[in-house]
Amino acid sequence: MSADQNFLSLLTGSFATPAAENPTVVMMEAAYRHHGLQARYINCDVPREALGDAVRGARAMGWIGFNCSIPHKVAVIRHLDGLGQSAALMGAVNCVVVRDGKLIGENTDGKGFVAGVERLTDPAGKRMVLFGAGGAARAIAVEMALAGVRHVTVVNRGEADGRSLVDLLNDRVRPSAAGDFTATFVRWEGDHAVAADTDIVVNATPVGLFPDVDARLNLDVASLRPGMIAVDVIPNPPRTRFVRDAERRGCRVIDGLAMLVGQGRIAVRYWTGIDPDEEVMRRALLDVFGEPAQA
Ligand code: NDP
Repeated sequence: MSADQNFLSLLTGSFATPAAENPTVVMMEAAYRHHGLQARYINCDVPREALGDAVRGARAMGWIGFNCSIPHKVAVIRHLDGLGQSAALMGAVNCVVVRDGKLIGENTDGKGFVAGVERLTDPAGKRMVLFGAGGAARAIAVEMALAGVRHVTVVNRGEADGRSLVDLLNDRVRPSAAGDFTATFVRWEGDHAVAADTDIVVNATPVGLFPDVDARLNLDVASLRPGMIAVDVIPNPPRTRFVRDAERRGCRVIDGLAMLVGQGRIAVRYWTGIDPDEEVMRRALLDVFGEPAQA
């Protein structure tokens, strides 16, 4: 073995169950290869009752960080040493980072979303309509509020989850948001018409996710106007019906790959200090989803 040989990899990965269909490993390892990093991303199927052992194992093996997905995003918190600002507000962690030897929980879902939006516009002062009130919607709403949006309308079928998200935004996030930030709840009944002064419309429900690819949101498509920004969280397929409808209405569109790649890019930055090439990560995912690469 010569002096410059090193057979030890930096270790990262994901703890979730089920895990077999999670394509994140593909984009992360594509980024590692592209940037010549001797790092691995291991996709681990970790049952609920084994999460504590998995985290202790990651500590013992010197992992530099890991993602958590369903069902561990809340449960992982008690195994960590601290939380970042938005993860603390959301009460959910999807990315664990080692800082000064401590495991710190971050939430990069919403940060990845914001990064996608910022390519088209500054969120500051904007009005956003958000369909859904689950984990993705919470991450998006909290991070967009911290990024300066002025108003969020949460549109959800289930009233309890919708109101709980709006209460979180108004009671806990507002002090850290821009001065005049507010959030309101609208119960989702029939085809929702988006208010004409809306700047950003977001689908944060699973509607459109493979295999039900032609599912349509209960949305009055005619209420979408040119100039609005329409954002979908569905990464597979990226060209959902919502994306296609919004494009036809003249909206500027961001697909669900942007959020997925955006949160992965932030994780790589947190873990390695390298800002990876998003296009490499996006192409790796498109190869998996079997779609031609698009601009
Ligand atoms: P949750 O189960 O936590 O929440 C789902 C939300 O969607 C709920 O508010 C639910 O409302 C609503 N909903 C579900 N089905 C319908 C329907 N048929 N019509 C209207 N509303 C519906 O899921 P998540 O928030 O964790 O995930 C949502 C989607 O976001 C998933 O498809 C996931 O793949 C995607 N996602 C994408 C990411 C990315 O990086 N691109 C990251 C994270 C998630 P109700 O309370 O009324 O049932």
